[in-house]
Amino acid sequence: LYNQVQDLKGNIRVYCRVRPSLGGRSDFKSVVDSIEEGTITINTPAKYGKGSRSFNFNKVFGPSSTQAEVFADTRPLIRSVLDGYNVCIFAYGQTGSGKTHTMVNILSDFYKLYKIVSHAKYLDKTWTKHTGPKDLTETSQGVNYRALSDLFFIAEQRKDTLQYDVSVQMIEIYNEQVRDLLVTEEIRNNSQNGFNVPDASLVHVASMYDVIDLMKLGHKNRAVGATALNDRSSRSHSCLTVHVQGRDVTSGAVLRGCMHLVDLAGSERVDKSEVAGDRLKEAQHINKSLSALGDVISSLAQKNVHVPYRNSKLTQLLQDSLGGQAKTLMFVHISPELNAVGETLSTLKFAERVATV
Ligand code: ADP
Ligand code: MG
Repeated sequence: LYNQVQDLKGNIRVYCRVRPSLGGRSDFKSVVDSIEEGTITINTPAKYGKGSRSFNFNKVFGPSSTQAEVFADTRPLIRSVLDGYNVCIFAYGQTGSGKTHTMVNILSDFYKLYKIVSHAKYLDKTWTKHTGPKDLTETSQGVNYRALSDLFFIAEQRKDTLQYDVSVQMIEIYNEQVRDLLVTEEIRNNSQNGFNVPDASLVHVASMYDVIDLMKLGHKNRAVGATALNDRSSRSHSCLTVHVQGRDVTSGAVLRGCMHLVDLAGSERVDKSEVAGDRLKEAQHINKSLSALGDVISSLAQKNVHVPYRNSKLTQLLQDSLGGQAKTLMFVHISPELNAVGETLSTLKFAERVATV
């Protein structure tokens, strides 16, 4: 039923998410005029032609939306993966707009909470070194964590009819180079998956404990070679891929599904007159791969015969999971602040181009 409902709506969906203002200043001015179901209206300042501009998406999540609300609309896709579909979930937006918050690497969240908690009232009560403050972490977990816990939950429910085997990969794409983030002893190559990085470690996971361990390892490996981690992470794409194999207990038939959870590089345009060298090269790579992704999704949305997968590493790697029977969800993030309005408008225009509504 879930998948039938989805098919009626099409295989590409675009959700917009507006993060809350981080300024906390009384003179803060939001450019968001209104949010209604799938429509967001932006007040455009004089520089961009004073007035207002509306954009339509499958759904718009306002600043007060919670992680649980956002995940509720993602949930049917997890069932699809276990039914044998390939799924891609992307977080798009300028640096600081909330991409990582939506997807949330459990560990980056952990460190963030550590900072908050270390000078907060939680310190003496609920903080423990290994789990953090339980009440906070549980509500802030993002799509990655929730998707995997859901996946294990549903697999458990189905275990009398289907037996699932789950493996994950984590990679980073930086300057069109792919890096394996799960370099461990337990490496198993599998050419039958929907992700063409034959050399990237594919690690079997049996529970959320295993997943959290791997996320930690991925985070640690990501830090290696990066001088300023945050800076670097905003200029690379990171992808957590989950491979699922289900074996029908009675017939022995095997189904395969996979899910890519992608935290994209920041979409902000850099001023070419102000940057040079490595920074310019990075910017050009990001620009190229994000527009290649936009081209692929919009050509799929328009049901074009030729889909330009070959134009970037990212789209090449995800080729088997974009188009065909695969399901795609793009979370487009915007910052509400007036000083970000230029990027906000170009983000929304990009998203409008890939949306099919
Ligand atoms: P990005 O990954 O796009 O660069 P982040 O996810 O790191 O952006 O978000 C930037 C900051 O805003 C972080 O401190 C994050 O915790 C905060 N933030 C983002 N989205 C939300 C949200 N929906 N609610 C509360 N805080 C948020
Ligand atoms: Mg980020």
